[in-house]
Amino acid sequence: MAQAADILIIGGGVAGLSAAATLSRRAQVIVLEAEEQIGFHSSGRSATMVHYALGDRVVRELTRASRAFFDAPPERFSDAPLGRTVPLLVHAREEELDALDALQADLAPFATLDRLDRDGVRQLCPLLRDDAHYGIADRGALRLDPHALLQGYLGQLRRNGGELKTGARVAAVERGGGRWLVATEGGEEFSASMIVNAAGSWADAIARLAGVSELGLQPLRRTIVTFDAPPGIDLDALPFAKTIGDELYFAAESGRLFASPMDEVPSEPTDAQPDEYEVALAAHRMEERTTVKVDRIHSRWAGLRTFTPDRHPAVGFAADANNFFWLAGQGGFGLQTSPAMARIAAALIAGDPWPMTDVTEAELSPTRFLGQAA
Ligand SMILES: Cc1cc2nc3c(=O)[nH]c(=O)nc-3n(C[C@H](O)[C@H](O)[C@H](O)COP(=O)(O)OP(=O)(O)OC[C@H]3O[C@@H](n4cnc5c(N)ncnc54)[C@H](O)[C@@H]3O)c2cc1C
Repeated sequence: MAQAADILIIGGGVAGLSAAATLSRRAQVIVLEAEEQIGFHSSGRSATMVHYALGDRVVRELTRASRAFFDAPPERFSDAPLGRTVPLLVHAREEELDALDALQADLAPFATLDRLDRDGVRQLCPLLRDDAHYGIADRGALRLDPHALLQGYLGQLRRNGGELKTGARVAAVERGGGRWLVATEGGEEFSASMIVNAAGSWADAIARLAGVSELGLQPLRRTIVTFDAPPGIDLDALPFAKTIGDELYFAAESGRLFASPMDEVPSEPTDAQPDEYEVALAAHRMEERTTVKVDRIHSRWAGLRTFTPDRHPAVGFAADANNFFWLAGQGGFGLQTSPAMARIAAALIAGDPWPMTDVTEAELSPTRFLGQAA
């Protein structure tokens, strides 16, 4: 006998859990997660930042609309703070000045920025080499605690009477009697009037199972390594430091440093593993841009950032199926936009007015890709 719910959410990452927390206020929600734990894939492998140098205007607006949630989460959401302030520093060499100016203009409506000269850059981040001539700093950026965020969403779901099923890999999705019928690899069966597809890198695969047109999602692998910081460095005072081009970012991480070469290697949906080349590239770029010697990599991981063709997320009902709702394509900004994305999902599902002022429904609608995917 299939277990019944109003809404089945496929995917227990930040997208699925944030939507579940909100939707469960008004509906009976079950989240189906393939792995034994939540956040096992992208949501547990990120750089955990909230800042405005990611993405474009649309992503920045979604981030801005999410920010109040991180600063003042709902009552009982989390015992621990959701994040701590870590300045964002974007630095540039002499020949990169124009690009820095352009970014500063783009970010100005969203954040209070300090313009830094060579000394200012070094003061904020003493590790950078002295070819970092210019910088902009947003001293209000945040480093999130992803565990607190995911557990917070899960707690809300449970307090609202919703359920999370782990080890529940969806293997079949079909329509029957005006409802969605879902079977897991393990043979469990569920039925619901609505499906929310929050399966991250696998969201197109879920659409295929359901006979719904794909969006053309592309997972891109990104690598992070950790290594020792030089002695005497005040790790707590370090910013999240990023090159103006997408070459390198680094910050403090659990008593060490972490760095990413900001790789974007196309991948199938999979349990992403770091490749030797990108690990070496991270160390190389760290030594090129900073005075740090990377003698030994302490740990390494990779995760997938999954993009739609225009790099804006997709939230809304599929045009070619009843009650099949997309919540996908969160790229490299899925944590920092999750409160706004969950709010949008809840409004569209409830038939409430569009809840954003500076992003239109059309900009995020999955129907914009109709006929484009292979
Ligand atoms: C290296 C790196 C750095 C990043 N840095 C940042 C950052 O600083 N700030 C930021 O906001 N974002 C960042 N991101 C992006 C962020 O991590 C993602 O946008 C976000 O985690 C996507 O969440 P998701 O829930 O869509 O995907 P996921 O977390 O991958 O969740 C999808 C879930 O669906 C499940 N699933 C798949 N198929 C099935 C099935 N058949 N049945 C049941 N369940 C299924 C999977 O097991 C998975 O748990 C970064 C990502 C990476 C990799």
